[in-house]
Amino acid sequence: MSPVRGRSRSATQGSSRSAERVAATQHVWVRDDATSYAAECEACLYARDPVPPREAQVHGTLRPRADVGFTSCRRGHRIVVRRIGRALASAV
Ligand SMILES: [Zn+2]
Repeated sequence: MSPVRGRSRSATQGSSRSAERVAATQHVWVRDDATSYAAECEACLYARDPVPPREAQVHGTLRPRADVGFTSCRRGHRIVVRRIGRALASAV
């Protein structure tokens, strides 16, 4: 008796990429004491014709008193800049 079992590997890794998450406007969170920010535009990074991360860079400044700001990347994607400290503080 030889318990030989035929191992049949069924390694089917379903790699399904969906670009649906890009549809939402990207939010960049800025620290409470920060007046400038830098981020990468996700819409650019995950676009069908993606740009190198270097070119997806978005940066700007947010006034100390401002809680929210708006900017756009080089390709024109809208990005919302939000200050993280007060948003959390007011939520508690
Ligand atoms: Zn973009």
